[in-house]
Amino acid sequence: MIIKPSNLASSRREFLQGLFPGGALLLSGCGLLSASSRLQNKPAKATVIGQQVMTVLGPIPVEKLGVTLTHEHAAFGYLSWFADESVAPYDQKQIETRWVKILNELKALGIQTVVDPAPADTGGRDPIVLRNASKKTGVQTIMATGLYWEAEGGAMYYKFLQGRGRNIEQDIYELFMREITVGVGKTGVKAGIIKLSSSDPKMTEYEKIVFKAGVRAAKETGLPITTHCEGPNVGPEQMDFFLSLGANPQKIIIGHQNNSTDLDYFLGQLNRPGFYLGFDRTGFSDPKAEDCIIELVKRGYANRIVLSHDYVATWLGRPFKWAEGRMTEEYYYPTYIHKQFVPRMKAAGVTDEQIRTMMVENPCRLFAAK
Ligand SMILES: [Zn+2]
Repeated sequence: MIIKPSNLASSRREFLQGLFPGGALLLSGCGLLSASSRLQNKPAKATVIGQQVMTVLGPIPVEKLGVTLTHEHAAFGYLSWFADESVAPYDQKQIETRWVKILNELKALGIQTVVDPAPADTGGRDPIVLRNASKKTGVQTIMATGLYWEAEGGAMYYKFLQGRGRNIEQDIYELFMREITVGVGKTGVKAGIIKLSSSDPKMTEYEKIVFKAGVRAAKETGLPITTHCEGPNVGPEQMDFFLSLGANPQKIIIGHQNNSTDLDYFLGQLNRPGFYLGFDRTGFSDPKAEDCIIELVKRGYANRIVLSHDYVATWLGRPFKWAEGRMTEEYYYPTYIHKQFVPRMKAAGVTDEQIRTMMVENPCRLFAAK
């Protein structure tokens, strides 16, 4: 099994009592990272040896995650991009070069870990690119196994199999387990997180099958789950479905919260204990969502929020221009949080400690939770 409990696990309980009164979160030493490592470009000082996280270069202690962006992409292409490959071929070298450049910029800002949750059934998840770029830059990278939402992922294939008598929940579970325990294809690069995705406002029956397979794999391997919500409504349904499957909410990010700007939507989800809200489209989304993040932090929810940009460094297929207003490098770039949003949060009274909670402790606790 990939995620091994530390042989010092028994020592966790006592020091965590002070951190998380009531023992609600019996985790590793995430909360005890050195204050001097705060948002700086050096490894956080681990107080204890905790569990391990699978990166594209192999397992690392969870305490070494440090400042983490939970949702960025080296590349992405909608499912049929490859139909255009004769005119817009896949250029692995160019994708890697661009990703290395971006990781170096992130590293210079103190970011130590990037999660790339590209699913298996869209274009862009390339274990070799992720591995090479991580090796060249030293930025720790966590790759996903998982599937995209029904309308934009590989549902056709699985529904075809299902219509011919195959148990696709089992098939999908086996795929996830293979990518977690053996690796993607023949690369030997293993997934460290499970990506699950759904339509909005309601999950489809196919998506529920994928979620069931994902929760089975998560329970068996200890990997966390991060989700795609296609719109601003489905977060609570995803949460309730996870709970009905017996998943541990402390291991789950409900993603793309920035699709909404409704404070009540966030508070409704925060009423369900444990889950992290992934404000992982910060930058290009409506800045009113950023106001909501600040408000939620002020209301004491910093320990339930993770931040990222959902940036795509290379779009596969033919080049195109964004039409929308905030899809420019000023907003749609993975340095936005550090360069623009962090100063904005601080000006609004958010403390360094709260920022560190969102960017260091929460990702650490997510991966460490059992
Ligand atoms: Zn994404």
